[in-house]
Amino acid sequence: MIKAVFFDRDGTLIYDYGYLSDPAKVHPYTCARAALTLLQKAGYHFFIVSNQSGIGRGYFTEEKAHAVNRRLCQLLRPIHFDEIVFCPHAPEDKCSCRKPLPEMGLKLIKKYRIDPTRSFMMGDKKSDVNFGHAIGCRSILLLTANGKKHLKKYPDLQPDFVAADLLRAARFILRTENLCKK
Ligand SMILES: [Mg+2]
Ligand SMILES: [Zn+2]
Repeated sequence: MIKAVFFDRDGTLIYDYGYLSDPAKVHPYTCARAALTLLQKAGYHFFIVSNQSGIGRGYFTEEKAHAVNRRLCQLLRPIHFDEIVFCPHAPEDKCSCRKPLPEMGLKLIKKYRIDPTRSFMMGDKKSDVNFGHAIGCRSILLLTANGKKHLKKYPDLQPDFVAADLLRAARFILRTENLCKK
């Protein structure tokens, strides 16, 4: 079984400009590379799990979403993402895959034989935190993008850790792991 970090995409790895569909507007957060390098060296596999309702709303095509993902991978090389998945539906479609529903994560867990108890989810929204818990991982809320707003707006939200940025989140994971070692 492998250990993994699941990442939300917009507002977590890259700046959230809202319904991003232009690869030229892909800008990873400054500390993304350093954070992911630390985690990759520690043996974590990476997955991106994203809601892209802009497709279902008719704002952009699925191909545009793939182009944005390719650009992200290119910019963060040699960081490697095992797989990037997204839900293309609008909320009113009432699909079975939109976060916080666990479907996208559960499929990855099965396909890659991921141990959720050794894995983490990072994101900037309530739906990310709840998705992480729904698939049996620990959830980290990042205070980038929507993070601060959601922490205030949802007092019942219970992330396992709140981090100012990706680098602090990565250090939290490494600390947690050391504590668990016998
Ligand atoms: Mg986000
Ligand atoms: Zn969906």
